[in-house]
Amino acid sequence: MKVKVQVDQDLCTACALCYDEVPEVYEDAGDGIARVKEEVGGDGAIIEGELAQRVLEVTDECPSGALVTEVVEE
Ligand code: SF4
Repeated sequence: MKVKVQVDQDLCTACALCYDEVPEVYEDAGDGIARVKEEVGGDGAIIEGELAQRVLEVTDECPSGALVTEVVEE
């Protein structure tokens, strides 16, 4: 599986869940608001495999709908 990951920072409520659960992909931008790490390619990065599954799970758990995750390959 491959997913394309983005964070809508206008919706993020800085709950910290995504970067606590999937620190390989998300990080605190400095004020609690999440962002996709530059190391993985930043906003719009493609994430594969087991990590992609975890991204999908945390996307469902984000309380504000700020994690924008698109499955690009099943
Ligand atoms: S889980 Fe959602 S609301 Fe919480 S920090 Fe991540 S993007 Fe923001």
